[in-house]
Amino acid sequence: MTVTIIGGGIIGLYTAYCLVEFCQLPGSQICIVGKYLPGDQSANGYTSPWAGGNWSCISPDDKATLFHDRFTYENLDQLQKKLLSHFEGRDAEWLGLARRPTKEFWDYVPNKLKIESLSSYLEDYQVLGHEKLPEGASFGISFKTWNFNCPVFLYNFAQFLKDKGIKFVKEELTHLAQATSFMNEDSTDDKIVFNCTGLGARDLGGVKDLLVYPARGQVVVVRAPNVNENCLRWGQNYATYIIPRPGPLKELVLGGFLQVDNWNAQDTSLEESEDILTRTTQLLPKLGAKDHLKILRVAAGLRPSRYGGPRIEKEAQNGILVVHNYGASGYGYQAGLGMGYRAVRLAFPGSKL
Ligand SMILES: Cc1cc2nc3c(=O)[nH]c(=O)nc-3n(C[C@H](O)[C@H](O)[C@H](O)COP(=O)(O)OP(=O)(O)OC[C@H]3O[C@@H](n4cnc5c(N)ncnc54)[C@H](O)[C@@H]3O)c2cc1C
Repeated sequence: MTVTIIGGGIIGLYTAYCLVEFCQLPGSQICIVGKYLPGDQSANGYTSPWAGGNWSCISPDDKATLFHDRFTYENLDQLQKKLLSHFEGRDAEWLGLARRPTKEFWDYVPNKLKIESLSSYLEDYQVLGHEKLPEGASFGISFKTWNFNCPVFLYNFAQFLKDKGIKFVKEELTHLAQATSFMNEDSTDDKIVFNCTGLGARDLGGVKDLLVYPARGQVVVVRAPNVNENCLRWGQNYATYIIPRPGPLKELVLGGFLQVDNWNAQDTSLEESEDILTRTTQLLPKLGAKDHLKILRVAAGLRPSRYGGPRIEKEAQNGILVVHNYGASGYGYQAGLGMGYRAVRLAFPGSKL
């Protein structure tokens, strides 16, 4: 078996991890190729470093997503342990993957199936009484969640995979068929390509999926050592969130926006930053007055969304098995391990996975 994964974002890395951990595929048989790789930054070509990021209730209510979320939530513990035992002497804060408490509020009553699913596995899950809800909210829960320092975690995760023998190649492909050039041409092993290109799936030859679109999000990053918890509020037309990033810098990511079909991640707007600061300081008063917050930077990223939801599907192209795994939208960190697991199961249908 020889595998090329196109895409070095969180979905490509989770997929590689699933191949190594769940299929026992030697790392030396896997190559990850990407125009951008962990450690790089690009406003509109590489979403993963820009995520908040945490595990939250942002994702939709369909059965597949409920499975991806649950699988990821439950298996991050094992992933964290593996990485920490690999990087001996380091801790969760250094790794960029740590636990934090969270509260989430809705202006409406969320889907019953989703709430039933969440209540069955989230640690320290509690439904909050009306007296604990902010004005105008209809429902609220608290639980113990996962927090990522996304650029740091991506980098460390990639290092772990490199140490397992996985090769990383920085290159842009124009057609999916080029993925085979990173495999041993003479090998008679089965060849598999995983397509984890996020928004790139719109333009890549052999894919050109026009259902893929961006959902732009602007965030304001502040330093707030007194806030170590998440707090999120979901309205019909807005999302407000406060997400602490693990690590010594005590960064807090404040958001946000979900602007469909807006490709502009180069520019940020003062008006949007003001709106974010107003909403987040109202939601979590312990943040303090918005004029006193220490702003570190303002940034924007493009969530790789797809009409109809993520594409996890296999097909044969010129005798090569291709497994698509893209379209994680605003939930790649929190659902991506489940997506990777489903993608590798498609590639190995007969296995005991
Ligand atoms: C503001 C913001 C906040 C977010 N917060 C959260 C959060 O709190 N929790 C959460 O779970 N998610 C969050 N997300 C979503 C998360 O960031 C994405 O779901 C995730 O990063 C998608 O990962 P990906 O690997 O699919 O895409 P990407 O990270 O974009 O990676 C795509 C990869 O494919 C490569 N590629 C593409 N085309 C080609 C080509 N032609 N040739 C070679 N390589 C190619 C790229 O170079 C890159 O390596 C947030 C996103 C934003 C913007």
